Amino acid sequence: MPALPFPPLLFAIAIAGCGVDESPWVEGEIGRLEEGLTVAQAGGCSTAIVAGLSKQLIDEQNCIRPNALVSFAGKAGIDVGAGVFPFLEPPAAAALEKAALAQGGKIQISSAFRTLAQQFLLYKWQGSCGIQIAASPGKSNHETGLALDVSNHGAWQATLQKHSWQWYGANDVVHFDYVGGGTIDLRGESVLAFQRLWNLNNPNDKIGEDGDYGPQTAARLGKTDVNGFAKGKTCGGNPPPPPPMTPALAADRIGQGGPAQLTEGATATFWAEYRNTGTAKWHPATTRLGTTGPRDRASALASADWIQPSRPTGVDQETAPGAIGRFTFLVTAPAAPKGPVVYAEHFALVEEGVAWFGPKDDAYLVELEVRPAEHPPSEIAVPPPRALGSPDAGDPPPGDAGEPPTEAASGCNVGRRPATPSALLALIALLLLGLRAARYPKRAAARSALHSAGST
Ligand SMILES: [Zn+2]
Repeated sequence: MPALPFPPLLFAIAIAGCGVDESPWVEGEIGRLEEGLTVAQAGGCSTAIVAGLSKQLIDEQNCIRPNALVSFAGKAGIDVGAGVFPFLEPPAAAALEKAALAQGGKIQISSAFRTLAQQFLLYKWQGSCGIQIAASPGKSNHETGLALDVSNHGAWQATLQKHSWQWYGANDVVHFDYVGGGTIDLRGESVLAFQRLWNLNNPNDKIGEDGDYGPQTAARLGKTDVNGFAKGKTCGGNPPPPPPMTPALAADRIGQGGPAQLTEGATATFWAEYRNTGTAKWHPATTRLGTTGPRDRASALASADWIQPSRPTGVDQETAPGAIGRFTFLVTAPAAPKGPVVYAEHFALVEEGVAWFGPKDDAYLVELEVRPAEHPPSEIAVPPPRALGSPDAGDPPPGDAGEPPTEAASGCNVGRRPATPSALLALIALLLLGLRAARYPKRAAARSALHSAGST
């Protein structure tokens, strides 16, 4: 049997019901508190039985709106009755403290803020425990944090009124409402606080977080343990979630280039650029382009200088986080004996032996039309409309039949990358090839040989 939150005898004090459509009532004896007791099962005539849950609800309301409710416990001249939650909206609390200081002596508070769980009990207990009328949960003036019940009200009425506390009148003599302004109606948020905690603890039975007290919310509140939820407030005491970690390997796609058409057997330079958005440096030996769709597939476009048929190249040079890395590689057009063939091949980034990373597997597409060798380059540059894969026997023979089908003849911008003046691109390509030749003399020699083969 869990310990009682408060000694029951201390609850034989009066708190009023209070305000519009509520009648004063006397807090009675606390009901029998058992393991697993729900709010709907709670008996007795004291709202102290839901003290554990009520504390969580107040905390959660302050998560929804920081400092929505502040405590006046321990302030000079204010006596807080046992079991009273000493919370008010900040302007109301300040006015109460000023009134207490102004008059001197002790003001005795028997009720202030009331939680949704407490109001649920008062509403349920109507007709017993001396309660004639209670407001529906979410509707009581005490759930706004702007109401007080004062046991020694007669001695304090004038001073409270001077400090913006309005006396309710003869129908509820202990009750005062703060009317000083600068406040908001917190009742919707008192409902929302419960809805949030319920959903946090019951992910398979979620309810709307709308701040409206309806049948769905009422049913869940009735099923809740009077001692509260396993998981309490969603802010503050629980450490905030750590910021998302920057992964070691990450990349954004910048652009790509290469010809759209090649004659069978010809070789051309392709490139792709990615920005290193991770924390690890990229290295030519390990940070590579790999074939995808599926991954590690042997590509039909592989040239002799590829690392292997599924790995066109490593990054051209070491690429620090934040920098752009270029992956330059050669493509050799396969044979096309039966007429033009379009190859669509996908590539992605892979850190060898570690992981694939960067944009999705299908983000980088090389689409290349390979044409039979008997069709000279001038015809390739301006292809007539026709069905792909069928021989185009009707094309007229061009005049410049001897010109080699080099990459320079077809340009190197595809996809969404904006066009660049071809002279500049050619210069960049030459510079890159020079750099690679310096870094990889063997591969450069092979490339040079391929170029020769493709150019004759
Ligand atoms: Zn009241």
